Amino acid sequence: MRGVILHGPGDVRVEEREHPEIIDATDAVIRVVAACVCGSDLWPYRGADEADAQKMGHEYVGVVEEIGSEVRTVKPGDFVVGSFVISDNTCEICQAGYPSRCVNATFVDGSIGTQAEYARIPYADGTLVATPGTPSQEMIPSLLAASDVLGTGWFAADAAGAGPGRTIAVVGDGAVGLMGVLAAKQMGAERIIAMSRHESRQALAREFGATDIVVERGDEGVEKIRELTGGLGAHGVVEAVGTQESMMQAIRATRPGGSVGYVGVSHGVEFPGIELFFSLIHLHGGPAPVRRYLPELIRLIWDGTIEPGRVFDKVLPLDQAAEAYAAMDQREAVKVMLTP
Ligand SMILES: [Zn+2]
Repeated sequence: MRGVILHGPGDVRVEEREHPEIIDATDAVIRVVAACVCGSDLWPYRGADEADAQKMGHEYVGVVEEIGSEVRTVKPGDFVVGSFVISDNTCEICQAGYPSRCVNATFVDGSIGTQAEYARIPYADGTLVATPGTPSQEMIPSLLAASDVLGTGWFAADAAGAGPGRTIAVVGDGAVGLMGVLAAKQMGAERIIAMSRHESRQALAREFGATDIVVERGDEGVEKIRELTGGLGAHGVVEAVGTQESMMQAIRATRPGGSVGYVGVSHGVEFPGIELFFSLIHLHGGPAPVRRYLPELIRLIWDGTIEPGRVFDKVLPLDQAAEAYAAMDQREAVKVMLTP
């Protein structure tokens, strides 16, 4: 079978790999129906993270081909959505709502790599969720979004305390930031401020529910958020970038007592302790516990309440994965779907 391997910065290749097989009784093997390139894949692609013949891809939807003898909740033929972290969904950490740090957690990226034709999913019951039936072609991008960007944006909006009467600001106009806007809207936020300087992304943010757009960045951006909120700052801020600038922008744009939901993979971020101390804010974030939200997200997609798949603005066959990475790297595409 074919799958994407990153050999080094900018070196994306589609190569022949071993066809996955059931190893443990709790495994499932799925045929990947759609996968995609994530903003976080750009860190190793750009050389910010090391990559040495790494299997790429952690977002996926597919059809179950085969299951181990102990798998109970999915069966061959089921259409499934999985989280980007393998989880048993039974340990204390999972039960508390944090399956992305399950005691048996494995990151799909690197170990499995779903930018491929097939994938072995350990702890299938704890990782995969079957859809109510076979989805239409139009619904597949939205279900794929649930696998990471939607689930991550959802967690970030939740962690930022989105809800009725709240003003939520979103730092980052990539797919996760845009999904954070959609999530905040679904959670009933009254005002949603998207921080973006790209016209096409601003338009998408508005479609997803943004009420205001702020084009300024850094301290100017913070100043603008304060102006829009009576000098107080937002009740909650979604941070979906992971840089020093974006993190400080999020912290400084949050009012005392408010919350930052941070999901941008942190790179070189350092906190000035004394500023954090006096900010009096909640910080909650990390790898999103997507599996916790999957059943609800699938339901909202299935009944047509949300259409997060609109975030995909390019579709390419798996063989053209290199082009997909380049398009995301150059910001020519918000998010690229790959079809094997
Ligand atoms: Zn667990």
